Amino acid sequence: MLSDLDELPLYDLAVIGGGINGVGIANDAAGRGLSVFLCEKDDFASHTSSASSKLIHGGLRYLEHFEFRLVREALAEREVLMVKAPHIIRPLRFVLPHRPHLRSAWLIRSGLFLYDYLGKREKLPASKRLLFDAQSPLKQDIVLGFEYSDCAVDDARLVILNAIQAREKGAELVTRTECIAAEVVNNAWRLTLKQSQNQYQIRAKALVNAAGPWVEHFVNETLKLKSPYKIRQIQGSHLIVPKLYDGDYAYILQNEDRRIVFTIPYLNEYTLIGTTDRIYQGDLQQVDITQDEIEYLLAVVNLHFEHTLTQADIIETFSGVRPLCDDESDQPSAVTRDYTLAMTLIHETVPLLSVFGGKLTTYRKLAESALDELSVYFPELQAQWTEHEPLPGGEYFKSLDGLIRGIQLRIKNIPLDIATRWASSYGTRVWQLLREVHSLDDFGINFGYGLYQCEVDYLIEVEWAQSVDDILWRRSKLGLKFNNNEVESLNDYLQDVLGHQQSKIA
Ligand SMILES: Cc1cc2nc3c(=O)[nH]c(=O)nc-3n(C[C@H](O)[C@H](O)[C@H](O)COP(=O)(O)OP(=O)(O)OC[C@H]3O[C@@H](n4cnc5c(N)ncnc54)[C@H](O)[C@@H]3O)c2cc1C
Repeated sequence: MLSDLDELPLYDLAVIGGGINGVGIANDAAGRGLSVFLCEKDDFASHTSSASSKLIHGGLRYLEHFEFRLVREALAEREVLMVKAPHIIRPLRFVLPHRPHLRSAWLIRSGLFLYDYLGKREKLPASKRLLFDAQSPLKQDIVLGFEYSDCAVDDARLVILNAIQAREKGAELVTRTECIAAEVVNNAWRLTLKQSQNQYQIRAKALVNAAGPWVEHFVNETLKLKSPYKIRQIQGSHLIVPKLYDGDYAYILQNEDRRIVFTIPYLNEYTLIGTTDRIYQGDLQQVDITQDEIEYLLAVVNLHFEHTLTQADIIETFSGVRPLCDDESDQPSAVTRDYTLAMTLIHETVPLLSVFGGKLTTYRKLAESALDELSVYFPELQAQWTEHEPLPGGEYFKSLDGLIRGIQLRIKNIPLDIATRWASSYGTRVWQLLREVHSLDDFGINFGYGLYQCEVDYLIEVEWAQSVDDILWRRSKLGLKFNNNEVESLNDYLQDVLGHQQSKIA
């Protein structure tokens, strides 16, 4: 139902897109006193922001492309984000096996020296040289290497935590709601939103286009304007295989084409292998790994490790599209990973800010820059705040082990794997999940692999979960374990609860 202009709610800011950039901007803006609306057409983090290599990193290889601004900012952000969300971000050491015909030891040492000192680094240890012995999982002819620090993150949860915080700061965020049109009427944007079969409208003084891979399409097709930049859609894919080696190290493998591939310890039992860089022209809604990418990733790993992987080892794959700002580079891997914010003024006073490119790692700085750009239109904007305030679950967080022990004390006989997963997913917000749970008897239905009704209800109530994939692939990674029957029984429960909720609203 479309209404009269005067009846429509008027926000300061409307944000399109519930990936890390949209949610990060919404969160920052809400905390600075703006009234904020955000719509996401699918689920939070359902596209690029859950298909990353899951690293908070400076980007060692970007030094070769002279991206010093980006690397400096990203290196410093590691330390900020580790403190803001210590439950979902952990330090990780990276081992770089030396392959002299690709890059000289001198070049690597110089790069690592820059990496150690270009950005602020207080918590993470510096790089060092390594000699591999017979225990090394690498091929025996690889004897020299280097070690340096970055961090691993649960990418989808980083998005969800920002969404929760934005809501707590007063923003209104809706999922499964697509912005299908927007135009400027009477000095404000009027957005038409489609939620299931219904349409409704809202107004906003400023519009942020954080549609990720759809950023250019949104300007050209939805707003019927001309996009200030083009994007390069670069697909990147990953494999998940059983743990390839012992020890909590990631490896950064140099390939003959001068690209690099990571092997990253993942969820205790697995190794994550990625990524690729290929120009993508297919359907953005459903991005799948190609056979060439599978073979490429296996070949790079098999070139380095004693243990040979085959396709039969692959448990799962996932792919995403990087929405990179087109800098006309010849090679997909050389296109800048830095972000560009483009301001378009409609009728000279109504702003549209579009986000091109960006990294998970720099989302907070990107949001600050976006708010800087918008500050001219909002003189009442309050001061920056995101650097020091923890994300939900990071408040009063002392250590993961301490929190796990706390959960074990509260719930007698709780299996360790559940306590560990809860502590590292929810941080200190686990006490909210456990508000009415005092013993194992209060857990409710067991859906399998430590997923109980109390957690599912929390995810529906607090984290916008509406489907099996929301729960099994983004808010947790239990999808790696569930079989079809288990998925179906979870789905039946969700239908029951959400159908019931909807009929209550009706
Ligand atoms: C393979 C790969 C590996 C990566 N690894 C890393 C890494 O290790 N570390 C790192 O820092 N970065 C990494 N990145 C980069 C990082 O993942 C992305 O920069 C980031 O996730 C982009 O977020 P976004 O919010 O711009 O886009 P998205 O996450 O795609 O969000 C955009 C959202 O907008 C929504 N949307 C679009 N149109 C509309 C509309 N009309 N109405 C409502 N909603 C709409 C979409 O549904 C989508 O959810 C990687 C990227 C890839 C692809």
